[in-house]
Amino acid sequence: MDQKKNSLEKGSGYTTQSVHGGEYEFNDKYAITTPIYQTATYTFENTAQLCDFFEGRSNRISEYGRYGNPTQEVAEHKLRELENAESALLFPSGMNAVTTAIFAICKQGDHVIVTSDSYRRTRQFIRQVMSRFGVEFSLCEPDAMSIEKTIQKNTRLIISESPTNPYLRVPDIEKIVEIAQRNHIKTLIDSTLATPYNFRPLDYGVDIVIHSVTKYLAGHNDVLAGVLLGKSSIISAIKELQAIIGGISDPNSSYLIIRGLKTFPLRMERQNHTALAVASFLESHPKIEKVWYPGLKSHPDYAHAQKYMNGFGGVVSFQIKGNLQTGSLLVDSMKIPKIAPSIGGVESLIEQPSLMSYYELTTEEREKVGIYDNLIRFSIGIEDTDDIVKDLKQALDKI
Ligand SMILES: *Cc1c(COP(=O)(O)O)cnc(C)c1O
Repeated sequence: MDQKKNSLEKGSGYTTQSVHGGEYEFNDKYAITTPIYQTATYTFENTAQLCDFFEGRSNRISEYGRYGNPTQEVAEHKLRELENAESALLFPSGMNAVTTAIFAICKQGDHVIVTSDSYRRTRQFIRQVMSRFGVEFSLCEPDAMSIEKTIQKNTRLIISESPTNPYLRVPDIEKIVEIAQRNHIKTLIDSTLATPYNFRPLDYGVDIVIHSVTKYLAGHNDVLAGVLLGKSSIISAIKELQAIIGGISDPNSSYLIIRGLKTFPLRMERQNHTALAVASFLESHPKIEKVWYPGLKSHPDYAHAQKYMNGFGGVVSFQIKGNLQTGSLLVDSMKIPKIAPSIGGVESLIEQPSLMSYYELTTEEREKVGIYDNLIRFSIGIEDTDDIVKDLKQALDKI
């Protein structure tokens, strides 16, 4: 059967792309959904067919499961279209995508700049693992000036997030790219919190974008995955390393990603909308000390967010007037959000970073890394906006 990919009209809308992009016009047995190809290896009809494959004369995806899978290929193709990237590569987790990219780019004697408000495990990987292979690193504030000052002769890679987590900092990406290119340094942006619905760093010349697909892209808190996106030349080099290391996303995960992506723009639109409503509500509430949301004028990176983002994402961080216990009382009084780490799913989740990612540290140690005991991170789900605001209101009335 003729396996042709869907070809969408030029200028098709983002949701049309998310439903149909990357998929075959007709699947095996005319199934409307992309099948889960649960296979570890692939057969050849005869030796001539094998030779055709290795000499690039056939359109089959791979000869062995570690090198590719048709369900995975569709998921990657859809992600690539949504990010407007040349190439995409799936991984079994966001962290596996981050670590494989760093391994592929850095060698002994290189220096890496990581912005301070980056995902904790990314910082840990550079500090604890890459240092054993002779890779140096510096932490710096997530702004272009600090990054420029931190550059050394041997700087090879700049890693930042946008927005960062939990303070939702939005660095000036254009400026960072300009500085990096002038110094022949590669840029990697973890764009998990923005998502390609709100921001596309590759359009500004960033070399590699990573997402924890676990979060908004898959969106249902039911699968772990990561993706790297960028130019084919960069991504194919990383794919070679992936084939050696063996960090492969399985076909069931790819199926869940494809399914999740079909509703991604709808979910994101709702989450953007509710988060802005929640942030504005909290900012005007007398029991709240400070709200961190890049869609608010009070946020330090409001101007960058206006310049780069179509929406400001589904995470709202805020500091309550009071201490750790006041925060716990609020969290425990909320009825809709569950207490859990993670962000980006259909269910609202709430947490106190002090008691989640930073549980083992003392209050003083946390303050040193900028995590305050009265800080709460609220990941907005797709529940009704009014219900979430009402829930916050009744919980704040209890403290
Ligand atoms: C969750 C997350 C990661 C790690 O992704 P996993 O899928 O959990 O491995 C990396 N970066 C950011 C910004 C994240 O939120």
